[in-house]
Amino acid sequence: MALPVEEWRRSAARCWAVLEPALRERLAAAPLGEALRMGCGLFGPEEAALQRLCRRARTGKEPAAARFYREEGNRQFGRCCYRDAVRLYSQAAAHEPPRSPEVALCFANRSAALFHLGHFEVCLEDIARAESHGYPDRLLPKVLLRKAECLLRLGKLQDATDTLTAVENKMTVDGIMTSPIHRMLLKKLSQLKTEIHEGSCPEPAREAHGDIQRESEIWEENGSISGASSSLSLNFSTERGRHLVASQDILPGQNLLKEKAFVSVLCPGEGDSLLLQDSSETVWDTRVTNADLYCHHCLKQLLASIPCCGCSYAKYCSQNCADVAWEQYHRTECPLGALLLTLGVFCHVALRTVLLAGFSEVSRLVEWSRDDSNKDLCNAEAGGEHPSEVLDTRAGRKVIPGCNDNGQYQSSYQAVFNLLPHVEKHSPEHKFLCMLSIVAICKKLQETGLEAAVLNGESSTTGSEQKTCGKTSDELSPELMIMAEAMLRHVLQLQCNAQAITVMQELESGDGAVVNKKPVRLATAFFPVLSLLNHSCSPNISVSFSGTAATVRASQPIPSGQEIFHCYGPHRCRMRVAERQQLLSQYFFECRCQACLDELESDVESVSMRNSFCCPSCQASMQGEEMLCCSNEACAFSVSRERLSQRLLDLQQQMEKALELLRDSKADEAIKMLLKCQIDARNFLSPEHLLMGELEDHLAQVYATLGKWQEAARHLGRSIQLVEMHHGPSSVEMGHELFKLAQILFNGFAVSEALSTIQRAEEILSVHCGPQSTQIQELQEMKTCLLELPRSILQRT
Ligand SMILES: [Zn+2]
Ligand SMILES: [Zn+2]
Ligand SMILES: [Zn+2]
Ligand SMILES: [Zn+2]
Repeated sequence: MALPVEEWRRSAARCWAVLEPALRERLAAAPLGEALRMGCGLFGPEEAALQRLCRRARTGKEPAAARFYREEGNRQFGRCCYRDAVRLYSQAAAHEPPRSPEVALCFANRSAALFHLGHFEVCLEDIARAESHGYPDRLLPKVLLRKAECLLRLGKLQDATDTLTAVENKMTVDGIMTSPIHRMLLKKLSQLKTEIHEGSCPEPAREAHGDIQRESEIWEENGSISGASSSLSLNFSTERGRHLVASQDILPGQNLLKEKAFVSVLCPGEGDSLLLQDSSETVWDTRVTNADLYCHHCLKQLLASIPCCGCSYAKYCSQNCADVAWEQYHRTECPLGALLLTLGVFCHVALRTVLLAGFSEVSRLVEWSRDDSNKDLCNAEAGGEHPSEVLDTRAGRKVIPGCNDNGQYQSSYQAVFNLLPHVEKHSPEHKFLCMLSIVAICKKLQETGLEAAVLNGESSTTGSEQKTCGKTSDELSPELMIMAEAMLRHVLQLQCNAQAITVMQELESGDGAVVNKKPVRLATAFFPVLSLLNHSCSPNISVSFSGTAATVRASQPIPSGQEIFHCYGPHRCRMRVAERQQLLSQYFFECRCQACLDELESDVESVSMRNSFCCPSCQASMQGEEMLCCSNEACAFSVSRERLSQRLLDLQQQMEKALELLRDSKADEAIKMLLKCQIDARNFLSPEHLLMGELEDHLAQVYATLGKWQEAARHLGRSIQLVEMHHGPSSVEMGHELFKLAQILFNGFAVSEALSTIQRAEEILSVHCGPQSTQIQELQEMKTCLLELPRSILQRT
């Protein structure tokens, strides 16, 4: 995921272990540029091993894969599973050579599936794509008829008529039409003509448009921090580093920050192991990864994706995204796809960051950081040896690092560059791994002749000479060394400054009456302004994402003068203090937030109590660390924690299987399985365990697909109690659960309960996601519908 694959981590660790102790010491102490120079020589012997690992990552276009996916697509199409068919034809298209009849065929097939799904506009786009990529002439009448039908459904009668005339002409020109297919087409043709003639087509179909322009919120931007609200100010202190503080009283739900990521890279996601399978025995997999679901560039959800013309990995929502990505970074990244997957997302983000910044800006800042007189500014937050502000001696005024000459802090490469790399705090082994990985990328750039593209033609003319003579040697050109130094800095920064972009992903199930969503990590990004926020296990803001943009809102009242806190992951509701402190050690600090201080002081382990095991024999609570003993002295049952943890894992797997049954529309079997899980869970988990809530949630989901709304509401009610206990009554998790309950009550016509639930969900979600979010819109639509309901019922009776 974030780090390189395990085998490469092990290779690097072995390489480090056998180095001369003196060399290890020098490497550990050397500045980044110096360490890289030494690393170039050490990478050589490891290169072959890395190349072998890269062969497992399959990012090229493979005809066999294309065939496999197209056939699978046809199979799903035959079963009327059009969503799956669309996805599989997209996967097939990604493996076909660009501008070939084969890829045109994929688009044409996909257009048929899109037509059945009612996506007429997208269907038309795919037909146009098929035509422009060289769709076989003899097959054209079939797609043109589909085009006419789409136009008809969209109410574009004239265009539909014109298309039909074209089909007719085409079929006459092609000669006598005796084949059964032609006869069938003719029949369809005359049928469509009558439909147009009679104007019998139903009202033009309305397509769901995701991003309707909405009124924007009232917003006053800060004069000195880009994207921030005017109610914040940027402060600096030695203990807290840079941080944001409320400069006036802030209300819950108030918009505090809107920032587009400086750079973001899609994470392959849960399915990333698929991309790294052993190549010896290829079994193509129909499971999907994030790369199949989201645009490689803007992270928008994909319907009919446009494949990269060079690889099978990058897929885009539009030709525009494909073109922009190619221009800005992908022409360099495309041939490196397998290497980047092997080295992990952090290395990938580092490369894309320097590509986006451009050589001249990168080299300006690298040179600046090498200048000794700037050392203090670079490391202003790294230690306690500095006075409370940093004095820029030349200008004779106080300067906060990362700000430009006018004292403004902007979402720029300069701001990214000034995020702390904590060079001295990373372990020498880790720095060595990162360094070898960056050398690997640069070597590859040099070998494949991509250096010129990386340097953007901005380097001096001597660059081209050095490139050719440097090719075979162990050394990198001076320009590439500058890029490498910046990349290494970025990889180290990411450990503390990487921001995950997460979305609520819709789970496929049932008929869609109740939409179930789970949060997934989509991408890893640099947000230089968001990075100004310090961590607290009990944050006072909530972050939501749309595409590559983050929005920060106050989740509670924040009085003037109070610091704004973001949670980096370990939230007090989810983990006990010891676990949190351990996780936070990767950020090189000990959390001293109020939640941690309180818990350390009072020794209350509320979270662990709630998520604990109970005695399988008498259901009393279990105590102990590795060996667990029943708290009931009369019982004296004992068992290892490992045993019970394994049992929990098994239970989770059973639960997954039940959900799979639900996806296959076997609701009755799914219920049976979930009820069995529940009985098993009661035997060894405390009644407050989060998994108990999850089981109730899933049961609610299954009953909802069966239209048994009361049962569904009952189970969801229990899940909500547990979510409230764990996450708090005004948490975003609570908002999502109430949203589900609202849908169930709405479907079950429980009008007054539905209305009050909508109200509660609205209050919570508008604070976390804003009044313009899709969830709030959907809640309001439900409300309108319910309020109109009594009248229509009265009218009928
Ligand atoms: Zn896009
Ligand atoms: Zn590509
Ligand atoms: Zn804390
Ligand atoms: Zn017991």
